[in-house]
Amino acid sequence: METQVLSSPSPVISERRTVTRFAPSPTGDLHLGHAYSALFAAEAAQRGGGIFLLRIEDIDLTRCKPEYERRNIEDLRWLGLSWPEPVRRQSEHFADYQAALDRLEEMDLLYRCFLSRRELSEALSAPHGTPESAPTDTDKLLSADERARRAKDGTPYALRLRMARALERTGPLSWYDRNKGLQQARPELFGDVVLARREIPTSYHLSVTVDDALQGVTLVTRGEDLFQSTHIHRLLQALLGLPTPDYDHHGLLLDEEGKRLSKRALSTSIHDLRAEGLRPEEVRRLAAPSRSVE
Ligand code: GLU
Repeated sequence: METQVLSSPSPVISERRTVTRFAPSPTGDLHLGHAYSALFAAEAAQRGGGIFLLRIEDIDLTRCKPEYERRNIEDLRWLGLSWPEPVRRQSEHFADYQAALDRLEEMDLLYRCFLSRRELSEALSAPHGTPESAPTDTDKLLSADERARRAKDGTPYALRLRMARALERTGPLSWYDRNKGLQQARPELFGDVVLARREIPTSYHLSVTVDDALQGVTLVTRGEDLFQSTHIHRLLQALLGLPTPDYDHHGLLLDEEGKRLSKRALSTSIHDLRAEGLRPEEVRRLAAPSRSVE
């Protein structure tokens, strides 16, 4: 892979070519945390003698903007990263996600939940301020007549996975995290997860799982904040007959006050750092792994 990021990668003998990816959602400018994550993925690919991919995760057409995508790509190139073209843009592949939903539907694992967020929250909250329980069989909270009425009225709905039934099909599952070792998948903790909505016909969980498989990703590197999602992705892989990559959830880069960086923290946006006159190698240094925490 062509990148100016690593000078002397240590040779690692891998049985299969490593394919990693960086998958930003273009809802704002990239900040140092994204730079760290992108460099982490590129370095992992380079160590494995493999390929680093860029994927644009823009399924939420109201929040993602082409202008941000353009700026994100420009910032990544400026940092010295490169990847094969064309990049996969999720908004161009809704048919792939629909095909996955169709398979789950054929297995009778999906249902429509017509409850509003407020209705759902009320139904799931327990007394005395204990946390809400994970949503299960939420369709059954409405009568069949009420469900039919809402369906007829065009009420927004969430397409949920019938978790208990899904787990009956797969049995126990695990995945390998390079940071934490072998992990038992515990998707039941999340209840009947939402895989699509009327207004967005896929979800982060579904599109990421499908794309990682379609793109031949062998090592998913991403922030520790997404560790929990992997429980769900592992289940979807098993249901859809997709391969399971290795995972490496890295620590998050913190600001001077020890807080997580966010897209709102504009002072650390790569765009602004460039405008301030910083050079790529200086920004790469600021985004170095030593500043992250596990
Ligand atoms: N698109 C996600 C984000 O920007 C990252 C998805 C992933 O790496 O699995 O947070």
